Amino acid sequence: MEKNIVLSQEEIQFICAKLAKQIEAKIKNAEKVPVFVGVLKGSLNFMMDLLKFIKVPIYTDYIQVRSYFGTSSTGRVQLLKDLSYDCEGRDVFIIEDIVDTGLSMQFLLEHIKSHQPRNVYVCALFDKINARMVEVNVDFAGKVLEKNDFLIGYGLDYNELERNVPYVYSATPEDIRELDEVLENDEK
Ligand code: IMP
Ligand code: MG
Repeated sequence: MEKNIVLSQEEIQFICAKLAKQIEAKIKNAEKVPVFVGVLKGSLNFMMDLLKFIKVPIYTDYIQVRSYFGTSSTGRVQLLKDLSYDCEGRDVFIIEDIVDTGLSMQFLLEHIKSHQPRNVYVCALFDKINARMVEVNVDFAGKVLEKNDFLIGYGLDYNELERNVPYVYSATPEDIRELDEVLENDEK
C-alpha cells in the first residue's frame, strides 16, 4: 500500500544541507573541536547524512538511552551507553531523530551538562512541538510537527523494524498491522 510520506529522500538531503550550514555558522569561532553526539539508534541515518555536509573539523560520539516502547512513551529514561570522550569545554551538538515528550532529551541535556561542556545544542530531524511533557528547546529542527502522528523510517522504528527505510512516513493502522504480523511471524 502507498505510504503517507512525511519526508522523501530528497527532502531529507535538503534539510541536512540547511541544518549543516546553520550549525557551521555556530561553530565558526570555536577554540576547541566540537563534538557531535548521536543518540542511538534512531539518529544514525540522520547523523551520517548531516555530517557529510559539515566541512569543519569535528569529533563524533554516541550515547544511548531507553525511554520508549511501542507507540507510547513510558516516561522513564535509562542510560544504556555513555559518552566515550570527555566533552569538557567543548561545544556539544546532540543529534536526535525526534524530540517527542522531551523526557529523553531532558535527561541527555542534564547528563551532558554535568560534564561541563562550553555549550550544548540540540539538533533533531523532527520536533513534535505539541507532545511535550517537559520543556525542551530544539535549537536546530529539520521539520516541526504540529500533529502527534507516529512516524516510521530513516532511523525511526516501530519495535526496531523499519529503521532501514530511506524516507519517513506517518504510520496508518494498516501499516502497524503489517509490521505486527512481521513481528508475530518472527517469534514463531
Ligand atoms: P521522548 O523522550 O518522548 O521525547 O522520545 C524520544 C524518543 O522516542 C525518540 O528518540 C524516538 O526514539 C522515540 N519516538 C518518539 N516519537 C516517535 C515516532 O513518532 N516514531 C518513532 N519513534 C519515536
Ligand atoms: Mg531515539
